[in-house]
Amino acid sequence: MHLVPLPALADNYIWLMHDDHGDAFVVDPGDAAVVEQALANLQLRLRAVLLTHHHPDHVGGAAALRLRHDVPVYAPVDERIDVATEQVSDGDLIRLAAPRIVFEVIAVPGHTISHVAFVGGGVLFCGDTLFSLGCGRLFEGTPAQMLASLDRLSTLPPDIQVCAGHEYTEANGRFARAVDPDNPALQGRLQDVAALRALQLPTLPVTLAVELATNPFLRVDSEAVGAWGARQGVGPDRLTRFAALREAKNGFAG
Ligand SMILES: [Zn+2]
Repeated sequence: MHLVPLPALADNYIWLMHDDHGDAFVVDPGDAAVVEQALANLQLRLRAVLLTHHHPDHVGGAAALRLRHDVPVYAPVDERIDVATEQVSDGDLIRLAAPRIVFEVIAVPGHTISHVAFVGGGVLFCGDTLFSLGCGRLFEGTPAQMLASLDRLSTLPPDIQVCAGHEYTEANGRFARAVDPDNPALQGRLQDVAALRALQLPTLPVTLAVELATNPFLRVDSEAVGAWGARQGVGPDRLTRFAALREAKNGFAG
């Protein structure tokens, strides 16, 4: 299987996966033209569309793709996603025949209430829940929901490839460094990220292991983030610390 991030819109990634027989699916096609171009360039047939959440930069191209290719569109149960042909919820399995792969659906509320992630084939498609060195804004859910969602993703195999919905890594990295300045794993990742971005290359996918070692939103229980919380004067419990971290990122201008 081949995994290809397609840059789209301002800073989105549409994720395309395909096998060696020319069968492909895409995740969160915010722009149909980007997908059509990739299908043509790589000589692929589109077989399915997967959607993580209802935001237009993730679903905007799905209707056009469905019309042109007559493919199933898998999406969470949410009346705002009227392009869905198959509604999926936590624990469901999505079995694609071509390319042959099975995904488990995981409910990850926080960024939006109905947000889901797809796990299969050693890959995690997590939309706007988990980013490299960051996490999604809380548009609809509570800090408790987002923390529970991130806790769940943290238990996946550490070698899983994290495929997030945006190229936010550099900006996230500036905040992560302010929170956790003495973390050598973070410093190494920031060097890698700077080198990739200088060449205009994606910083994704990244392994969960790297995120667990570097992403402050996955490290609320670490000594470093605990010390950050103490410096901010927030209470000792992890949810309060997580909420303060998410709040501080919103206001971070670094
Ligand atoms: Zn979103």
